Amino acid sequence: MAVLLLADPGDDELTRQALTLAQSLGEVEVVGSAALPVARAHIPELPGAYAPGAWATALEEAIDRVSPSAVVAPGTNRGNEVLAHVAARRDLPFAANCTAAEGDVLTRVRWGGSLLEEARIHSSLPLLSVAPHVLPAVTGEGAPEVDAFTPALSDSDLAVQVAEHVEETVSGVSLAEARVVVSGGRGVGSADGFGILEELAGLLDAAVGCSRVVTSAGWRPHTDQVGQTGTKVSPDLYIACGISGATQHIAGCKGAKKILAINTDAEAPILASADYAVIGDLTEIVPAITAELRKARSQ
Ligand SMILES: Cc1cc2nc3c(=O)[nH]c(=O)nc-3n(C[C@H](O)[C@H](O)[C@H](O)COP(=O)(O)OP(=O)(O)OC[C@H]3O[C@@H](n4cnc5c(N)ncnc54)[C@H](O)[C@@H]3O)c2cc1C
Repeated sequence: MAVLLLADPGDDELTRQALTLAQSLGEVEVVGSAALPVARAHIPELPGAYAPGAWATALEEAIDRVSPSAVVAPGTNRGNEVLAHVAARRDLPFAANCTAAEGDVLTRVRWGGSLLEEARIHSSLPLLSVAPHVLPAVTGEGAPEVDAFTPALSDSDLAVQVAEHVEETVSGVSLAEARVVVSGGRGVGSADGFGILEELAGLLDAAVGCSRVVTSAGWRPHTDQVGQTGTKVSPDLYIACGISGATQHIAGCKGAKKILAINTDAEAPILASADYAVIGDLTEIVPAITAELRKARSQ
């Protein structure tokens, strides 16, 4: 029996990583791309704008045609969303963030990358999405036999559609690529409180990050959030100001080479992950570091 891979046209790299896992399960047929090195590609004719319900119907039709042993998708927003729709409609189990599958045993990334879980999935048709950036991507172009089809869409399939793409405007250094990140948590106290972090970041050519409490409070945009549900950063230095160090935050900054924690609480969990710590009020410590840097540079 073939394995069906749902391609994400917006993310070739993660689609090819998902193909690696799919190939470990059997011969692969793809839905949604005719450029991958597989034997057969099922290409649905769909309206231009992405509609998750329409993609789910297309995938369901491909499932009915192929009768696959498993359906695999990349761990992108679209891959997870379409599998979730199909899982709900067909009452099938869906396992996200997989890194391996053998028989009914799956290995999955859990807790924001803190642990790998082995789990059993009991289903004649498991739906699996693949954890991003764990598996190698299959390279090379293919010339699969193309099976174009027009899914029978209902009005409700098109009830939700992407209306517009808005490019993110990044000023200064991007969070994911910065060599230094100055990050603030609840301890910063307010949106205005980030002024002293911005100043330090400016001197260090750093990006400003934050915890989820900060984005939830509306002090900073979600794009600045570091953590399990934010950006994963791997700078040379991560300066955590007024951040307690919850597991979900550490999941996003544990790739940093060094962590400096500035916190009033000598018992804060962040200290277990920090290489350096200053126990004190960030409203005094951060401006003091900035002043020292300015002094050192003017000499
Ligand atoms: C499913 C899920 C996903 C999540 N994803 C994320 C995520 O991606 N990123 C994330 O960050 N969180 C995430 N969270 C939330 C996470 O659990 C914590 O609630 C959050 O990280 C805490 O933010 P904080 O450290 O800013 O606040 P707090 O935990 O309240 O810590 C504030 C810290 O500031 C210190 N402090 C206070 N005043 C000062 C001062 N003047 N000077 C110095 N230090 C001071 C305090 O001692 C304390 O340690 C998630 C939670 C869930 C359930």
